[in-house]
Amino acid sequence: MNILDIRVLGDPVLRKETVAVTEITPDLRKLVSDMFDTMYAAEGIGLAAPQVGRTERVAVVDVDGAKYALINPEIVATEGSTRGEEGCLSIPDVFGEVTRASRVVVRATNESGERYEVEGTELFGRCLQHEIDHLHGKLFIDYLSVLKRRSVMSQWEKLKGDYPDFIRKVILEKAGPHHSEGEL
Ligand SMILES: [Zn+2]
Repeated sequence: MNILDIRVLGDPVLRKETVAVTEITPDLRKLVSDMFDTMYAAEGIGLAAPQVGRTERVAVVDVDGAKYALINPEIVATEGSTRGEEGCLSIPDVFGEVTRASRVVVRATNESGERYEVEGTELFGRCLQHEIDHLHGKLFIDYLSVLKRRSVMSQWEKLKGDYPDFIRKVILEKAGPHHSEGEL
């Protein structure tokens, strides 16, 4: 178990384009495993490499047991549109309504180097889109209207002091009644 620090809004790494993975190295497998540990410890349902200060094109998700390591993921098909509330482990305690495709098909590689395709709808589909956005420097707040974004940013101004140097230390707590399932 190795829990990484999570970078929060304001850290430039969250706005960087990631670099495609060319080889599944032991270091990359360790990153995937650490990212799962970190995501579970933070009680999130998805986590992308920039959120732990890395630039590899890698994300992990686990939505009700739909557990995937997404290496070089690409959305190859989308359908429909749906609105729903989103949060982000990198913008703790801030939420907003985002319109996403209601169904996506994602092509990716797993940590064993195998290519696969996965289809996502509802929360899982939303999570896939949210994490793939992270890999291109995009955050859910970018989708908010100017007014909503302004109110979210003023909320964040009051919260960000809790995260010196844009670092969120994840403390492993015993699973209690307070689950924050909305943070991706
Ligand atoms: Zn996020």
